[in-house]
Amino acid sequence: MMPWRDNLPAVRGKLLLNEPLGPYTWFRVGGAADALFIPADAEDLADFLKALPEDVAVTAIGVGSNLIVRDGGVEGVVIRLVGRAWGQVTTEGDTVTAGAGALDSMVARASAKAGIAGLEFYAGIPGSIGGALTMNAGCYGAETKDVLVSAWGLNRRGERVELALVDFGYTYRHSNAPADIIWIEATWRGTPDAPEAVAARISEITERREKTQPIREKTGGSTFKNPDGHSSWKLVDDAGWRGKLHAVTGGGAKFSELHSNFMINPGEATAADIEGLGEAVRADVLEKTGVQLNWEIRRIGRP
Ligand SMILES: Cc1cc2nc3c(=O)[nH]c(=O)nc-3n(C[C@H](O)[C@H](O)[C@H](O)COP(=O)(O)OP(=O)(O)OC[C@H]3O[C@@H](n4cnc5c(N)ncnc54)[C@H](O)[C@@H]3O)c2cc1C
Repeated sequence: MMPWRDNLPAVRGKLLLNEPLGPYTWFRVGGAADALFIPADAEDLADFLKALPEDVAVTAIGVGSNLIVRDGGVEGVVIRLVGRAWGQVTTEGDTVTAGAGALDSMVARASAKAGIAGLEFYAGIPGSIGGALTMNAGCYGAETKDVLVSAWGLNRRGERVELALVDFGYTYRHSNAPADIIWIEATWRGTPDAPEAVAARISEITERREKTQPIREKTGGSTFKNPDGHSSWKLVDDAGWRGKLHAVTGGGAKFSELHSNFMINPGEATAADIEGLGEAVRADVLEKTGVQLNWEIRRIGRP
C-alpha cells in the first residue's frame, strides 16, 4: 500500500506511523498522518528530506490553530517542529530571531523584555512562527509583513533557502513564497522602546482578546478572510449563523456566539461536520448577499 514507509530514512528525531493528528490541532478533529516526523534539528530534517523519495508528499504543520485536518488523514509525511531546538528566541539590538517552532506569544514577550516595539501583536495570535510566516499572521492593525526582515527554511529537496521580506509577496493572510519551504527560523526588526511600555501594550492585547474571542474553545480562529469592503463576522451574523446549528452537518459544530467568524467544535464534531458547516455558510452568504467568502482556515488531508 505504502512501500515508502518500509524504507524511511534513519532519523535522530521522532518518526511515528499512523499518528492521529487531531490532538495536534485546536479543533481536535481529523485522521492520522501516514507518518509524522518531529526532527531533532535542521540537519536531521535536511537529511530526511534529501533521502525521502521525491514522490512522497510532505506537509508542515505548526500548532494547528488555523487548521482543519480532514477525517481521512494526511497523505505522506507531516512535519512538526516542536521542542527546544525549534523554539529558541534571541534578541540583538532592535532585532529578534526565533525558531519556527516558537510560539508567537514567546516572540512578543522576548521583544518586550529587550525593549523592542512593533511585535506586540504576536501576543494576540496563538500560533507558531512557522504558521505566522505562512499566513502573514497579524491582528489589531499590525501583521508579520510590517516587521519581518527575513526567514530561512528547507525546500522539499532539503536545500537551505533564504528569503528576504520582499520575496514573500505578502498580502492579507497570504504569502507567495514557494509552498514547499518548511520554515526554520525568522528575524524581525522593531524599534527601541521602554520594556514596560511594550509589556503594557501586550497586556492590552491579551485582555482585549479574552473579551472578544472564544480562546478556550476548540476553534480555528477566523474562519473566513474579510472580503474587500466587508467584515466576515458581520456577513455570517447577518445571515443568521451566529450560534446556529446546521440542519445537516452534525456534531454540534457552530459559529461562536462571542465571535461570529469563529467556528466551534463543542466536542463531538468531525472534520467533515466543521468543514461542511463552513461550506454551507459560504453558500448561504453568497446567495443572500452576492459576496463570496473565502476560507482563512487551511484544510488539509483526505475527506
Ligand atoms: C483563538 C484563535 C485566535 C486567532 N487569532 C488570530 C489573529 O488574530 N490573527 C491571525 O493572523 N491569526 C489568528 N488565528 C489563526 C492562527 O493562530 C494563525 O494563522 C497562526 O499563524 C497559525 O499558526 P500555527 O502554528 O497554528 O499554524 P497551523 O495552523 O499549524 O498551520 C497553518 C499553515 O501554516 C503552515 N505551516 C506551519 N508551520 C510551518 C512551517 N514551519 N513551515 C512551513 N509551513 C508551516 C501549515 O502548512 C499551514 O498551511 C487565531 C486562531 C485561534 C485558534
